[in-house]
Amino acid sequence: MSNYNLDDPVELLCALTEINSVNSTLVPGAPGESEIATFIGKWFTDRGFEVTRLEGTPGRPSIVACSKGATSSKKIMLNGHIDTVTVASYEGDGCKAVRKDGNVYGRGTFDMKGGLAGQMIAAHRAVQRGITGQVIVAAVSDEEHGNIGTEEVLKHFTADVGVVAEPTMLGLTVAHKGFVWFDLVRVTTSESMQSPKQVTHLSH
Ligand SMILES: [Zn+2]
Repeated sequence: MSNYNLDDPVELLCALTEINSVNSTLVPGAPGESEIATFIGKWFTDRGFEVTRLEGTPGRPSIVACSKGATSSKKIMLNGHIDTVTVASYEGDGCKAVRKDGNVYGRGTFDMKGGLAGQMIAAHRAVQRGITGQVIVAAVSDEEHGNIGTEEVLKHFTADVGVVAEPTMLGLTVAHKGFVWFDLVRVTTSESMQSPKQVTHLSH
């Protein structure tokens, strides 16, 4: 990794981009979130945050960084996912951050390491400037598949308000419809292939 200034949001984004964190459920054999979680955990520890590494699923860690010294009971949680989709479809080296024309290119820069880098810097600066409540950054695994990271975080941490840095082209999104994955299995015989009424089995 290049010698980036990790207190600059753009350079922090470059550093995050150059850690391969392709979701290992989406892409078997991919590295998953271990290395990037370690990097983020150290980043927050170095800046005085209380860091918890949650890893109920081995190899799929999430990092929760909590500011210290709050003087009010209010809490805000900033949530960003640390996994990406595959780099196989990326034109060029997806794990190389390229700065060009005022943009940063690389797998996950938009979704959502850019947002995450912004949240990390914002959390640190809020503490430096004396925010009275607690700032929590949840850097979570597996958003691109099953959300095991956020599910695990919410078993241990709560907040009064949450902000997710998923890209919306700078639009404010106040609700989410959620998602569900399911497998559709059609069991049929050759003579009934013509008829959709012959669908006889549906699994989760
Ligand atoms: Zn995303």
